[in-house]
Amino acid sequence: MLFGQPVAGNPTQFMIEKAFAHHGLEWRYLTLEVAPEDLADAVRGMRAMGFRGGNVTKPHKVAVIELLDRTSDAASRMGAVNCIVREGKELVGENTDGKGFIESLRGVTDPAAKRVVLLGAGGAARAIGVELALAGASAITVVNRTLEHGRQLVDLLNAKTGVSATLAAWDGEFPVPEETQVLVNATCIGLNDPEARVPVKFDACPPGRVVADVIASPPDTRFLAEAKAHGATTLDGLGMIVNQGAIGFKLWTGVDPDKTMMREAVEEFLGL
Ligand code: NDP
Repeated sequence: MLFGQPVAGNPTQFMIEKAFAHHGLEWRYLTLEVAPEDLADAVRGMRAMGFRGGNVTKPHKVAVIELLDRTSDAASRMGAVNCIVREGKELVGENTDGKGFIESLRGVTDPAAKRVVLLGAGGAARAIGVELALAGASAITVVNRTLEHGRQLVDLLNAKTGVSATLAAWDGEFPVPEETQVLVNATCIGLNDPEARVPVKFDACPPGRVVADVIASPPDTRFLAEAKAHGATTLDGLGMIVNQGAIGFKLWTGVDPDKTMMREAVEEFLGL
């Protein structure tokens, strides 16, 4: 199941149920709109009804933690859960957002020893930042509109991982530093708005860099188009959705799902 509010338009159920059918599993995945004040009852309900697991999305990723029996190491470091897995009688909190991103990134480059610029400091940036650090990135510069939010993420990364994290203010156009090897847009800019522009300047950034976007709808964002025009290798947000879904699928069912089929399912859902 997926608990969130709002949940309309979320592609996860469509993608996961197609994968159940593809792999001959007679399972169900339900998308359920749950208000914050009802989250504790919803989690009790999933225990009572024997759910094998599921996902939580906004606004429940932090609040769900105290309702679970324990959380994975990465989820504890992030202080956020997006995936729940039943182990015996226990409900365990995982975070697959960042892992899904890393899996997608590994398709084009190894994050180890890379200098990363991370745009944004919300939930997605937090998950991605922690997993990049755990995957051995050498330095992460967090660039965020609200300095205080950026500072919180930088402090978390420096305190809870071995990466060297620094903060940069985002005032007008951010010039992507020449030494950047991986640039990630982890803000909401571009969500349901193909014209929205992420205010960065690629001029100093030589071709051949990896530029990734978390935005999955639409996946062909203006940010990625600009990056491509500057010679970057680009990664869209669909890869992250598919990979985080595949990690959850394996945790719940024990089956490694067919990711090509899952990507096609998300594309079908989004009408691409
Ligand atoms: P949050 O609300 O937690 O964080 C939003 C971030 O975007 C903040 O850093 C915020 O900055 C920044 N931001 C928003 N608008 C602007 C703007 N106009 N200019 C500059 N910065 C801005 O959201 P999440 O981190 O949960 O989600 C971010 C995006 O990631 C969403 O669009 C979501 O769809 C996507 N996502 C994709 C996933 C995938 O699998 N592809 C998985 C999870 C999320 P500030 O601190 O200043 O407010």
